[in-house]
Amino acid sequence: MSMLEAAKRQLEDAYPFAEIDEESWLKLQYPQKTLQVAIPMRHDDGSLKMYMAYRSQYNDTMGPCKGGIRFHPKVDRDHVEALGFWMTFKCACVKVPFGGSKGGVCVDANSLSHRELERLSKAYIDAFVDFIGPDTDIPAPDVATDERVMGWMYSEYRKIKGGHPKAVITGLPVALGGIEGRSSATGYGGYYCLENVIAHRDELNLKVTGPIDVAVQGFGKVGYWFCEKLAKDKRYRVIAVSNEYSGVYMDTSGPAFDPDLAMKCLQESNWRDWGQGLPISNDDLLSIECDVLVPAAIENVITKDNANTVRARVVLELANGPTTNDGDAILNERGVVVVPDILANAGGVIVSYFEWLQNRNAQQKTVEEVDKGLKEMVTYATERTIARKNKYKIPSLRTSAYALALKRIGMANECLGTFHYFKR
Ligand code: NAD
Repeated sequence: MSMLEAAKRQLEDAYPFAEIDEESWLKLQYPQKTLQVAIPMRHDDGSLKMYMAYRSQYNDTMGPCKGGIRFHPKVDRDHVEALGFWMTFKCACVKVPFGGSKGGVCVDANSLSHRELERLSKAYIDAFVDFIGPDTDIPAPDVATDERVMGWMYSEYRKIKGGHPKAVITGLPVALGGIEGRSSATGYGGYYCLENVIAHRDELNLKVTGPIDVAVQGFGKVGYWFCEKLAKDKRYRVIAVSNEYSGVYMDTSGPAFDPDLAMKCLQESNWRDWGQGLPISNDDLLSIECDVLVPAAIENVITKDNANTVRARVVLELANGPTTNDGDAILNERGVVVVPDILANAGGVIVSYFEWLQNRNAQQKTVEEVDKGLKEMVTYATERTIARKNKYKIPSLRTSAYALALKRIGMANECLGTFHYFKR
């Protein structure tokens, strides 16, 4: 089954709870547009290589499409279409007035030199310059792309289009129109979402008492900032972190987890010389005893093969699509509260929306204003998702989040004109 087909199964579960008309439902079954380009790129040694690049605009009913650009060897058409699908429902779930899209290049970014990476980033914009735009489709960073890459991409876009169209890309460097607080937004948004879930623990039949132990897979842009926020709140303990190569299981009687020290030790020795905790494998981290398990790296890490071994009471999906449908069914059956990606990791797109507004209006927000707005929007979306789950007796938060998003997209689509709308 393709990644998009698997993603669409999640939507089907939500259909009975969404009160959406047939035409709106039909339109949501297909990506609206996908552009595939073979990009020739000259390497530092003079050789020319071809890279497959994509941009998919899944649905723009709610507004201009919004989604990151990923540089990863697994990127293909199906991959970006599925990720664009998730963006569509994520934006609708948290009430950000954007549609959903995603882009990417099939490349191992680590294999490129600094100059090659710059060339590829600019070549991506050359290829997609008329496909994106501040009112049509707004890219942002994703796996293996960052504000530096966004700066290069913006520079190329501006060179071609002229003027200062800063709202074409979000996640820009702050000096170039980026917003304070964007880098931490997804991690902090995950924390605010978790806070709200814990606050509704009785309704969700969630048993967490005492210090809340958290294990985090992936210590990149999302994982680091999530841990940094938890480390400031004494009610939580980060007890394990990992990446694709290794991990550390903290000794809870020792010093508290220090995210900056963890990042330094990761960069210096891949945690080998940290001197705290015990080594743990990336796979074993998923089954350690904890309150909250946070997949914050890649897709499909919790599957039918390991979902039975998960010993957390909550799975907070900060990565996109970390749980397969089979894995999700097992977790639900076992009473694990799964906080779905389209809600849990929406902090990034919320603050991207603030950045887009900032650059359209030539106004600036302070980091305090950004954080306040982020917290309000995540809290509202989490509360609405939980309330809908309770009201309609929906079996999972995932289905409830999709039902909320579907209903909103359906209402907007009806206003654009459907058979049902005119008949009324
Ligand atoms: P990143 O590239 O900064 O970090 C990814 C981290 O995961 C790194 O620590 C890497 O070593 C680790 N990793 C890679 N493969 C792994 C594996 N097989 N097992 C364990 N760890 C692995 O990327 P990021 O921006 O932190 O994104 C992480 C996830 O969050 C992705 O699924 C992304 O789509 C999603 N996401 C990111 C944002 C954002 O604002 N950056 C927003 C929403 C969702």
